[in-house]
Amino acid sequence: MNPLSSTIAAVSTPRGRGGIAVIRISGTDAVSVAGRMFVPAGKTDVSGLPERYAAFGDILDPDGIPCDTGICTVFRAPKSFTGENMVEISCHGGISVTETVLLSAIAHGAVMADAGEFTKRAFLNGKLSLTEAEAVGGLIDADTTEKMKLSGGAVRGNVSREIKRLSDSLLDVMTALYAAIDYPEEDVGDEGERHIGEVLRTVSGGVKRLLATYKTGRAVQSGVKCVICGRPNVGKSSLFNRMVGEESAIVTDVAGTTRDVLRETVSFGGVTLRLSDTAGIHTSGDAVEQIGIGRAVDEIEGAELILAVWNASEPLTGHDIELIGRLKDASAPVITVLNKTDLARGLSGEDEAQIASVSGDMIRVSCETEEGIAELASAVAKLFGSDKLDLRHDAVIWDVRQRTQLMRADAALDSAVAGLTYGDPLDAVCTTVEEAMAALSETDGRGVNEEIVNEIFARFCVGK
Ligand code: GDP
Repeated sequence: MNPLSSTIAAVSTPRGRGGIAVIRISGTDAVSVAGRMFVPAGKTDVSGLPERYAAFGDILDPDGIPCDTGICTVFRAPKSFTGENMVEISCHGGISVTETVLLSAIAHGAVMADAGEFTKRAFLNGKLSLTEAEAVGGLIDADTTEKMKLSGGAVRGNVSREIKRLSDSLLDVMTALYAAIDYPEEDVGDEGERHIGEVLRTVSGGVKRLLATYKTGRAVQSGVKCVICGRPNVGKSSLFNRMVGEESAIVTDVAGTTRDVLRETVSFGGVTLRLSDTAGIHTSGDAVEQIGIGRAVDEIEGAELILAVWNASEPLTGHDIELIGRLKDASAPVITVLNKTDLARGLSGEDEAQIASVSGDMIRVSCETEEGIAELASAVAKLFGSDKLDLRHDAVIWDVRQRTQLMRADAALDSAVAGLTYGDPLDAVCTTVEEAMAALSETDGRGVNEEIVNEIFARFCVGK
Protein backbone atom coordinates (compact mmCIF):
# COMPACT_ATOMS: atom_id res chain seq x y z
CA MET A 1 0.00 0.00 0.00
CA ASN A 2 1.39 3.40 -0.95
CA PRO A 3 1.51 6.10 1.72
CA LEU A 4 -0.70 9.11 0.94
CA SER A 5 2.43 11.27 0.70
CA SER A 6 3.65 9.38 -2.37
CA THR A 7 3.01 10.47 -5.95
CA ILE A 8 1.32 7.66 -7.85
CA ALA A 9 0.98 6.86 -11.55
CA ALA A 10 -1.01 4.39 -13.62
CA VAL A 11 -2.48 3.87 -17.07
CA SER A 12 -6.18 4.79 -16.72
CA THR A 13 -7.33 3.52 -20.10
CA PRO A 14 -7.78 -0.20 -20.85
CA ARG A 15 -4.74 -2.26 -21.82
CA GLY A 16 -4.51 -2.94 -25.54
CA ARG A 17 -4.17 -1.05 -28.81
CA GLY A 18 -6.18 2.16 -29.02
CA GLY A 19 -6.15 5.62 -30.58
CA ILE A 20 -4.94 7.16 -27.36
CA ALA A 21 -4.08 6.09 -23.80
CA VAL A 22 -4.12 8.25 -20.68
CA ILE A 23 -1.50 8.04 -17.94
CA ARG A 24 -2.56 9.63 -14.68
CA ILE A 25 -0.14 11.00 -12.10
CA SER A 26 -1.41 12.16 -8.70
CA GLY A 27 0.30 13.50 -5.58
CA THR A 28 2.28 16.45 -4.29
CA ASP A 29 5.07 15.95 -6.84
CA ALA A 30 2.81 15.20 -9.83
CA VAL A 31 3.76 18.41 -11.66
CA SER A 32 7.51 17.99 -11.15
CA VAL A 33 7.37 14.31 -12.21
CA ALA A 34 5.50 15.36 -15.37
CA GLY A 35 8.01 18.19 -15.89
CA ARG A 36 10.82 15.65 -16.20
CA MET A 37 9.04 13.58 -18.84
CA PHE A 38 7.03 16.05 -20.90
CA VAL A 39 8.32 19.01 -22.91
CA PRO A 40 5.49 21.32 -24.00
CA ALA A 41 5.89 22.81 -27.46
CA GLY A 42 6.82 26.47 -27.05
CA LYS A 43 8.72 28.14 -24.26
CA THR A 44 7.07 27.08 -20.98
CA ASP A 45 7.74 23.89 -19.07
CA VAL A 46 5.02 21.81 -17.36
CA SER A 47 5.19 23.79 -14.10
CA GLY A 48 4.40 26.95 -16.06
CA LEU A 49 1.28 25.52 -17.73
CA PRO A 50 -2.07 27.04 -16.74
CA GLU A 51 -4.48 24.72 -14.87
CA ARG A 52 -6.65 22.41 -16.95
CA TYR A 53 -5.01 23.55 -20.17
CA ALA A 54 -4.28 20.86 -22.75
CA ALA A 55 -0.67 21.40 -23.88
CA PHE A 56 0.84 19.58 -26.86
CA GLY A 57 4.44 18.44 -26.64
CA ASP A 58 7.08 15.69 -26.58
CA ILE A 59 6.86 12.78 -24.18
CA LEU A 60 10.21 11.47 -22.94
CA ASP A 61 11.07 7.85 -22.12
CA PRO A 62 12.84 6.78 -18.88
CA ASP A 63 16.19 7.84 -20.44
CA GLY A 64 14.89 11.29 -21.34
CA ILE A 65 14.64 10.54 -25.06
CA PRO A 66 11.44 11.60 -26.91
CA CYS A 67 9.28 8.49 -27.54
CA ASP A 68 5.96 10.02 -28.55
CA THR A 69 4.05 13.27 -28.84
CA GLY A 70 0.93 13.90 -26.79
CA ILE A 71 -1.11 16.15 -24.55
CA CYS A 72 -0.41 17.13 -20.98
CA THR A 73 -3.09 18.56 -18.67
CA VAL A 74 -2.28 19.88 -15.21
CA PHE A 75 -4.86 19.92 -12.39
CA ARG A 76 -3.84 21.65 -9.18
CA ALA A 77 -5.04 20.63 -5.70
CA PRO A 78 -7.78 20.68 -4.61
CA LYS A 79 -9.42 21.06 -8.02
CA SER A 80 -8.80 17.57 -9.35
CA PHE A 81 -10.44 14.15 -9.22
CA THR A 82 -8.26 13.01 -6.29
CA GLY A 83 -8.11 16.43 -4.65
CA GLU A 84 -4.29 16.31 -5.05
CA ASN A 85 -2.05 17.79 -7.73
CA MET A 86 -2.70 15.72 -10.82
CA VAL A 87 -1.34 15.48 -14.33
CA GLU A 88 -2.88 13.53 -17.18
CA ILE A 89 -0.68 12.66 -20.12
CA SER A 90 -2.38 11.38 -23.26
CA CYS A 91 -0.12 9.46 -25.59
CA HIS A 92 -0.79 7.25 -28.61
CA GLY A 93 -2.47 4.06 -27.47
CA GLY A 94 0.06 1.42 -28.52
CA ILE A 95 0.83 -1.21 -25.91
CA SER A 96 4.57 -0.52 -25.91
CA VAL A 97 4.35 3.26 -26.03
CA THR A 98 1.79 3.34 -23.19
CA GLU A 99 3.98 1.13 -21.04
CA THR A 100 7.05 3.25 -21.80
CA VAL A 101 5.24 6.45 -20.77
CA LEU A 102 4.13 4.83 -17.50
CA LEU A 103 7.68 3.56 -16.84
CA SER A 104 8.95 7.05 -17.56
CA ALA A 105 6.63 8.47 -14.85
CA ILE A 106 8.01 5.85 -12.45
CA ALA A 107 11.62 6.54 -13.47
CA HIS A 108 11.02 10.23 -12.91
CA GLY A 109 9.75 9.92 -9.35
CA ALA A 110 6.27 8.41 -9.22
CA VAL A 111 5.34 5.02 -7.74
CA MET A 112 2.96 2.53 -9.33
CA ALA A 113 -0.63 3.11 -8.14
CA ASP A 114 -2.53 0.34 -6.34
CA ALA A 115 -5.91 -0.90 -7.61
CA GLY A 116 -8.56 1.77 -7.01
CA GLU A 117 -6.01 4.17 -5.50
CA PHE A 118 -7.09 7.28 -7.43
CA THR A 119 -10.71 6.86 -6.29
CA LYS A 120 -9.58 5.96 -2.78
CA ARG A 121 -7.57 9.18 -2.57
CA ALA A 122 -10.58 11.11 -3.89
CA PHE A 123 -12.62 9.62 -1.02
CA LEU A 124 -9.94 10.25 1.62
CA ASN A 125 -9.61 13.84 0.44
CA GLY A 126 -13.36 14.38 0.72
CA LYS A 127 -13.97 14.70 -3.05
CA LEU A 128 -16.39 11.76 -3.05
CA SER A 129 -18.52 10.08 -0.38
CA LEU A 130 -18.17 6.33 0.00
CA THR A 131 -21.42 5.56 -1.84
CA GLU A 132 -20.31 7.86 -4.67
CA ALA A 133 -16.88 6.23 -4.82
CA GLU A 134 -18.40 2.75 -4.86
CA ALA A 135 -20.72 3.90 -7.64
CA VAL A 136 -17.70 4.96 -9.76
CA GLY A 137 -16.75 1.26 -9.80
CA GLY A 138 -20.31 0.36 -10.81
CA LEU A 139 -20.35 2.95 -13.57
CA ILE A 140 -17.09 1.66 -15.03
CA ASP A 141 -18.42 -1.90 -14.96
CA ALA A 142 -21.93 -1.05 -16.24
CA ASP A 143 -22.75 -3.12 -19.32
CA THR A 144 -26.44 -2.19 -19.59
CA THR A 145 -28.18 1.19 -19.79
CA GLU A 146 -30.08 0.46 -16.57
CA LYS A 147 -26.88 -0.27 -14.66
CA MET A 148 -25.39 2.92 -16.05
CA LYS A 149 -28.41 4.95 -14.87
CA LEU A 150 -28.22 3.40 -11.41
CA SER A 151 -24.49 3.90 -10.87
CA GLY A 152 -24.55 7.27 -12.62
CA GLY A 153 -27.29 8.44 -10.24
CA ALA A 154 -25.23 7.35 -7.24
CA VAL A 155 -22.06 8.97 -8.63
CA ARG A 156 -24.04 12.20 -8.86
CA GLY A 157 -24.93 11.84 -5.17
CA ASN A 158 -28.50 10.46 -5.14
CA VAL A 159 -27.78 8.04 -2.29
CA SER A 160 -25.35 10.33 -0.43
CA ARG A 161 -27.83 13.20 -0.41
CA GLU A 162 -30.60 11.01 0.99
CA ILE A 163 -28.34 9.63 3.71
CA LYS A 164 -27.17 13.13 4.58
CA ARG A 165 -30.79 14.32 4.80
CA LEU A 166 -31.61 11.48 7.21
CA SER A 167 -28.43 12.05 9.25
CA ASP A 168 -29.16 15.78 9.54
CA SER A 169 -32.63 15.07 10.95
CA LEU A 170 -31.13 12.58 13.37
CA LEU A 171 -28.56 15.16 14.44
CA ASP A 172 -31.41 17.53 15.39
CA VAL A 173 -32.95 14.78 17.51
CA MET A 174 -29.63 14.09 19.19
CA THR A 175 -29.14 17.78 19.96
CA ALA A 176 -32.60 17.90 21.56
CA LEU A 177 -31.90 14.71 23.52
CA TYR A 178 -28.49 15.91 24.75
CA ALA A 179 -30.08 19.19 25.92
CA ALA A 180 -32.83 17.28 27.74
CA ILE A 181 -30.30 14.98 29.44
CA ASP A 182 -27.85 17.75 30.38
CA TYR A 183 -30.51 20.15 31.65
CA PRO A 184 -33.17 17.93 33.21
CA GLU A 185 -34.62 20.94 35.05
CA GLU A 186 -35.68 22.34 31.66
CA ASP A 187 -38.18 19.57 31.06
CA VAL A 188 -38.61 18.84 27.33
CA GLY A 189 -42.24 18.18 28.11
CA ASP A 190 -44.77 16.08 26.24
CA GLU A 191 -44.68 18.42 23.27
CA GLY A 192 -40.88 18.08 22.98
CA GLU A 193 -41.00 14.32 23.28
CA ARG A 194 -43.75 14.12 20.70
CA HIS A 195 -41.61 16.13 18.32
CA ILE A 196 -38.58 13.88 18.90
CA GLY A 197 -40.82 10.83 18.30
CA GLU A 198 -42.16 12.30 15.07
CA VAL A 199 -38.70 13.04 13.69
CA LEU A 200 -37.46 9.58 14.66
CA ARG A 201 -40.42 7.97 12.90
CA THR A 202 -39.81 10.07 9.77
CA VAL A 203 -36.13 9.10 9.69
CA SER A 204 -37.05 5.47 10.33
CA GLY A 205 -39.53 5.62 7.42
CA GLY A 206 -36.81 7.09 5.19
CA VAL A 207 -34.34 4.34 6.12
CA LYS A 208 -36.99 1.68 5.46
CA ARG A 209 -37.77 3.23 2.06
CA LEU A 210 -34.09 3.22 1.14
CA LEU A 211 -33.74 -0.39 2.29
CA ALA A 212 -36.75 -1.35 0.16
CA THR A 213 -34.90 -0.15 -2.96
CA TYR A 214 -32.27 -2.88 -2.45
CA LYS A 215 -34.37 -5.51 -4.20
CA THR A 216 -34.57 -3.38 -7.35
CA GLY A 217 -31.00 -2.10 -7.11
CA ARG A 218 -29.64 -5.60 -6.80
CA ALA A 219 -31.89 -6.87 -9.60
CA VAL A 220 -30.42 -4.17 -11.86
CA GLN A 221 -26.83 -4.36 -10.72
CA SER A 222 -26.15 -8.05 -10.04
CA GLY A 223 -29.03 -9.37 -12.10
CA VAL A 224 -31.69 -11.95 -11.39
CA LYS A 225 -31.11 -15.57 -12.25
CA CYS A 226 -34.09 -16.31 -14.46
CA VAL A 227 -34.92 -19.68 -15.92
CA ILE A 228 -37.31 -20.36 -18.79
CA CYS A 229 -38.85 -23.78 -18.42
CA GLY A 230 -41.60 -25.88 -19.96
CA ARG A 231 -42.04 -29.12 -21.86
CA PRO A 232 -40.44 -29.43 -25.33
CA ASN A 233 -41.88 -27.39 -28.18
CA VAL A 234 -43.97 -24.94 -26.15
CA GLY A 235 -41.79 -22.06 -27.39
CA LYS A 236 -39.10 -21.62 -24.72
CA SER A 237 -36.33 -20.93 -27.22
CA SER A 238 -38.63 -18.58 -29.13
CA LEU A 239 -39.35 -16.66 -25.91
CA PHE A 240 -35.64 -16.62 -25.04
CA ASN A 241 -34.91 -15.13 -28.47
CA ARG A 242 -37.67 -12.53 -28.14
CA MET A 243 -36.27 -11.46 -24.78
CA VAL A 244 -32.67 -11.45 -25.99
CA GLY A 245 -33.71 -9.72 -29.19
CA GLU A 246 -31.63 -11.89 -31.45
CA GLU A 247 -31.68 -15.44 -32.72
CA SER A 248 -29.23 -16.96 -30.27
CA ALA A 249 -31.15 -20.13 -29.32
CA ILE A 250 -31.91 -22.74 -31.94
CA VAL A 251 -35.63 -22.86 -32.71
CA THR A 252 -37.00 -25.92 -34.46
CA ASP A 253 -40.21 -27.89 -34.40
CA VAL A 254 -38.37 -31.07 -33.46
CA ALA A 255 -39.01 -31.64 -29.77
CA GLY A 256 -35.87 -31.59 -27.63
CA THR A 257 -33.59 -29.33 -29.72
CA THR A 258 -32.32 -27.31 -26.76
CA ARG A 259 -30.15 -29.95 -25.23
CA ASP A 260 -27.95 -27.86 -22.98
CA VAL A 261 -28.66 -24.70 -21.08
CA LEU A 262 -28.26 -21.48 -23.08
CA ARG A 263 -27.35 -18.38 -21.13
CA GLU A 264 -27.62 -14.71 -21.89
CA THR A 265 -27.83 -11.52 -19.83
CA VAL A 266 -30.54 -9.11 -20.92
CA SER A 267 -32.11 -5.94 -19.65
CA PHE A 268 -35.81 -6.78 -19.52
CA GLY A 269 -38.54 -4.89 -17.67
CA GLY A 270 -35.87 -2.50 -16.35
CA VAL A 271 -33.98 -5.25 -14.53
CA THR A 272 -31.04 -7.41 -15.52
CA LEU A 273 -32.06 -10.98 -16.17
CA ARG A 274 -29.41 -13.65 -16.30
CA LEU A 275 -31.49 -15.86 -18.56
CA SER A 276 -31.18 -19.53 -19.10
CA ASP A 277 -33.22 -21.49 -21.59
CA THR A 278 -33.37 -25.05 -20.34
CA ALA A 279 -33.90 -28.29 -22.16
CA GLY A 280 -37.54 -29.31 -22.13
CA ILE A 281 -38.46 -30.74 -18.78
CA HIS A 282 -39.75 -34.23 -19.43
CA THR A 283 -38.68 -37.82 -19.13
CA SER A 284 -36.54 -38.87 -22.01
CA GLY A 285 -34.76 -41.99 -23.14
CA ASP A 286 -32.13 -40.04 -25.09
CA ALA A 287 -29.02 -39.91 -22.90
CA VAL A 288 -27.82 -36.47 -24.08
CA GLU A 289 -31.24 -34.96 -23.62
CA GLN A 290 -31.48 -36.61 -20.22
CA ILE A 291 -28.36 -34.73 -19.04
CA GLY A 292 -29.91 -31.50 -20.32
CA ILE A 293 -33.10 -32.21 -18.39
CA GLY A 294 -31.10 -32.87 -15.19
CA ARG A 295 -29.49 -29.45 -15.61
CA ALA A 296 -32.91 -27.86 -16.20
CA VAL A 297 -34.17 -29.15 -12.87
CA ASP A 298 -31.01 -27.75 -11.17
CA GLU A 299 -31.64 -24.43 -12.85
CA ILE A 300 -35.18 -24.27 -11.46
CA GLU A 301 -33.86 -24.98 -8.00
CA GLY A 302 -31.26 -22.21 -8.15
CA ALA A 303 -33.48 -19.65 -9.92
CA GLU A 304 -34.61 -16.28 -8.56
CA LEU A 305 -37.35 -15.99 -11.19
CA ILE A 306 -39.03 -18.74 -13.18
CA LEU A 307 -40.81 -18.16 -16.47
CA ALA A 308 -42.92 -21.29 -16.98
CA VAL A 309 -44.06 -21.62 -20.59
CA TRP A 310 -47.17 -23.49 -21.80
CA ASN A 311 -48.56 -24.04 -25.25
CA ALA A 312 -52.00 -22.39 -25.25
CA SER A 313 -52.92 -24.08 -28.54
CA GLU A 314 -52.83 -27.61 -27.12
CA PRO A 315 -54.46 -29.30 -24.13
CA LEU A 316 -52.23 -29.95 -21.10
CA THR A 317 -50.08 -33.07 -21.36
CA GLY A 318 -48.73 -35.34 -18.68
CA HIS A 319 -45.38 -33.51 -18.89
CA ASP A 320 -47.13 -30.19 -18.27
CA ILE A 321 -48.83 -31.61 -15.20
CA GLU A 322 -45.49 -32.98 -13.96
CA LEU A 323 -44.03 -29.47 -14.31
CA ILE A 324 -46.97 -27.92 -12.42
CA GLY A 325 -46.16 -30.31 -9.55
CA ARG A 326 -42.46 -29.28 -9.56
CA LEU A 327 -43.23 -25.56 -9.76
CA LYS A 328 -45.58 -25.62 -6.80
CA ASP A 329 -42.54 -26.42 -4.62
CA ALA A 330 -40.30 -23.78 -6.21
CA SER A 331 -39.04 -21.10 -3.84
CA ALA A 332 -38.58 -18.45 -6.57
CA PRO A 333 -41.50 -16.41 -7.93
CA VAL A 334 -43.07 -17.92 -11.04
CA ILE A 335 -44.65 -16.08 -13.96
CA THR A 336 -46.71 -18.42 -16.12
CA VAL A 337 -46.51 -17.65 -19.82
CA LEU A 338 -49.25 -18.97 -22.12
CA ASN A 339 -47.59 -18.98 -25.53
CA LYS A 340 -48.91 -19.43 -29.10
CA THR A 341 -52.02 -17.34 -28.45
CA ASP A 342 -52.02 -16.51 -32.19
CA LEU A 343 -53.22 -20.08 -32.79
CA ALA A 344 -56.67 -21.51 -31.97
CA ARG A 345 -57.09 -22.09 -28.27
CA GLY A 346 -56.37 -25.66 -27.15
CA LEU A 347 -56.28 -25.30 -23.33
CA SER A 348 -59.56 -25.96 -21.56
CA GLY A 349 -60.80 -23.72 -18.75
CA GLU A 350 -59.81 -26.45 -16.33
CA ASP A 351 -56.29 -26.64 -17.84
CA GLU A 352 -55.87 -22.90 -17.36
CA ALA A 353 -57.08 -23.13 -13.78
CA GLN A 354 -54.42 -25.81 -13.14
CA ILE A 355 -51.71 -23.59 -14.61
CA ALA A 356 -53.02 -20.62 -12.63
CA SER A 357 -52.65 -22.66 -9.43
CA VAL A 358 -48.85 -22.31 -9.86
CA SER A 359 -48.87 -18.51 -9.83
CA GLY A 360 -51.32 -15.63 -10.02
CA ASP A 361 -49.04 -13.95 -12.55
CA MET A 362 -50.26 -15.29 -15.89
CA ILE A 363 -49.32 -13.57 -19.15
CA ARG A 364 -50.63 -14.48 -22.61
CA VAL A 365 -48.06 -14.07 -25.37
CA SER A 366 -47.32 -15.02 -28.90
CA CYS A 367 -43.64 -15.35 -29.69
CA GLU A 368 -44.68 -15.41 -33.32
CA THR A 369 -46.39 -11.97 -33.37
CA GLU A 370 -44.60 -10.57 -30.27
CA GLU A 371 -47.96 -9.82 -28.69
CA GLY A 372 -47.83 -9.88 -24.88
CA ILE A 373 -44.01 -9.55 -24.62
CA ALA A 374 -44.39 -5.96 -23.32
CA GLU A 375 -46.91 -7.21 -20.71
CA LEU A 376 -44.40 -9.85 -19.66
CA ALA A 377 -41.78 -7.13 -19.23
CA SER A 378 -44.23 -5.14 -17.06
CA ALA A 379 -44.91 -8.20 -14.89
CA VAL A 380 -41.14 -8.62 -14.36
CA ALA A 381 -40.79 -4.89 -13.57
CA LYS A 382 -43.61 -5.10 -11.03
CA LEU A 383 -42.08 -8.11 -9.34
CA PHE A 384 -38.73 -6.35 -8.82
CA GLY A 385 -40.04 -2.84 -8.23
CA SER A 386 -38.32 -1.28 -11.24
CA ASP A 387 -41.69 0.16 -12.36
CA LYS A 388 -41.80 2.42 -9.30
CA LEU A 389 -38.25 3.73 -9.21
CA ASP A 390 -36.55 6.27 -11.41
CA LEU A 391 -33.01 4.90 -11.47
CA ARG A 392 -31.55 8.15 -12.73
CA HIS A 393 -33.00 10.34 -9.99
CA ASP A 394 -34.08 8.23 -7.00
CA ALA A 395 -31.82 7.09 -4.19
CA VAL A 396 -31.42 3.36 -4.85
CA ILE A 397 -28.98 1.07 -3.04
CA TRP A 398 -27.59 -2.21 -4.37
CA ASP A 399 -24.52 -2.87 -2.30
CA VAL A 400 -24.68 -5.48 0.45
CA ARG A 401 -22.40 -3.43 2.70
CA GLN A 402 -24.68 -0.41 2.44
CA ARG A 403 -27.70 -2.59 3.11
CA THR A 404 -26.11 -4.13 6.21
CA GLN A 405 -25.40 -0.70 7.69
CA LEU A 406 -28.89 0.57 6.85
CA MET A 407 -30.41 -2.51 8.51
CA ARG A 408 -28.37 -1.70 11.60
CA ALA A 409 -29.69 1.89 11.52
CA ASP A 410 -33.22 0.59 10.99
CA ALA A 411 -33.09 -1.74 14.00
CA ALA A 412 -31.67 1.02 16.22
CA LEU A 413 -34.34 3.48 15.10
CA ASP A 414 -37.11 0.96 15.76
CA SER A 415 -35.82 0.43 19.25
CA ALA A 416 -35.42 4.20 19.85
CA VAL A 417 -39.03 4.79 18.76
CA ALA A 418 -40.21 1.93 20.99
CA GLY A 419 -38.12 3.22 23.91
CA LEU A 420 -39.64 6.68 23.60
CA THR A 421 -43.16 5.24 23.37
CA TYR A 422 -42.72 3.08 26.48
CA GLY A 423 -41.15 5.89 28.50
CA ASP A 424 -37.56 4.56 28.70
CA PRO A 425 -35.04 7.00 30.23
CA LEU A 426 -33.93 9.57 27.66
CA ASP A 427 -30.26 8.63 27.94
CA ALA A 428 -31.15 5.05 26.91
CA VAL A 429 -33.10 6.39 23.92
CA CYS A 430 -30.15 8.65 23.11
CA THR A 431 -27.75 5.68 23.05
CA THR A 432 -29.86 3.88 20.44
CA VAL A 433 -30.14 7.07 18.37
CA GLU A 434 -26.34 7.36 18.51
CA GLU A 435 -26.12 3.77 17.27
CA ALA A 436 -28.43 4.64 14.34
CA MET A 437 -26.31 7.69 13.59
CA ALA A 438 -23.10 5.62 13.62
CA ALA A 439 -24.66 3.12 11.20
CA LEU A 440 -25.77 5.90 8.82
CA SER A 441 -22.28 7.42 8.96
CA GLU A 442 -20.74 4.10 8.06
CA THR A 443 -23.14 3.65 5.15
CA ASP A 444 -21.73 6.70 3.49
CA GLY A 445 -18.22 6.56 4.75
CA ARG A 446 -17.84 9.30 7.30
CA GLY A 447 -17.34 6.74 10.06
CA VAL A 448 -15.78 3.90 8.13
CA ASN A 449 -12.59 2.32 9.42
CA GLU A 450 -9.44 2.01 7.34
CA GLU A 451 -9.66 -1.73 6.84
CA ILE A 452 -13.09 -1.48 5.17
CA VAL A 453 -11.91 1.45 3.03
CA ASN A 454 -8.94 -0.60 1.80
CA GLU A 455 -11.16 -3.59 1.09
CA ILE A 456 -13.64 -1.53 -0.92
CA PHE A 457 -11.03 0.13 -3.12
CA ALA A 458 -9.08 -3.07 -3.67
CA ARG A 459 -12.10 -4.23 -5.72
CA PHE A 460 -11.27 -1.58 -8.33
CA CYS A 461 -8.71 -2.07 -11.03
CA VAL A 462 -5.45 -0.16 -11.36
CA GLY A 463 -5.80 3.30 -12.91
CA LYS A 464 -9.27 3.99 -11.41
P1 GDP B 1 -38.99 -25.09 -27.22
O1 GDP B 1 -38.72 -26.51 -27.56
O2 GDP B 1 -39.93 -25.00 -26.05
O3 GDP B 1 -37.75 -24.29 -27.02
O4 GDP B 1 -39.81 -24.49 -28.45
P2 GDP B 1 -39.30 -23.62 -29.69
O5 GDP B 1 -39.07 -22.20 -29.29
O6 GDP B 1 -38.19 -24.35 -30.35
O7 GDP B 1 -40.60 -23.62 -30.59
C1 GDP B 1 -41.20 -24.81 -31.05
C2 GDP B 1 -42.02 -24.50 -32.30
O8 GDP B 1 -43.10 -23.64 -31.97
C3 GDP B 1 -41.23 -23.75 -33.39
O9 GDP B 1 -41.65 -24.25 -34.64
C4 GDP B 1 -41.66 -22.31 -33.22
O10 GDP B 1 -41.59 -21.56 -34.40
C5 GDP B 1 -43.11 -22.50 -32.78
N1 GDP B 1 -43.59 -21.35 -31.99
C6 GDP B 1 -43.00 -20.82 -30.91
N2 GDP B 1 -43.74 -19.82 -30.42
C7 GDP B 1 -44.83 -19.69 -31.21
C8 GDP B 1 -45.98 -18.83 -31.22
O11 GDP B 1 -46.17 -17.94 -30.38
N3 GDP B 1 -46.89 -19.04 -32.22
C9 GDP B 1 -46.75 -20.00 -33.13
N4 GDP B 1 -47.70 -20.10 -34.04
N5 GDP B 1 -45.68 -20.82 -33.16
C10 GDP B 1 -44.74 -20.69 -32.21
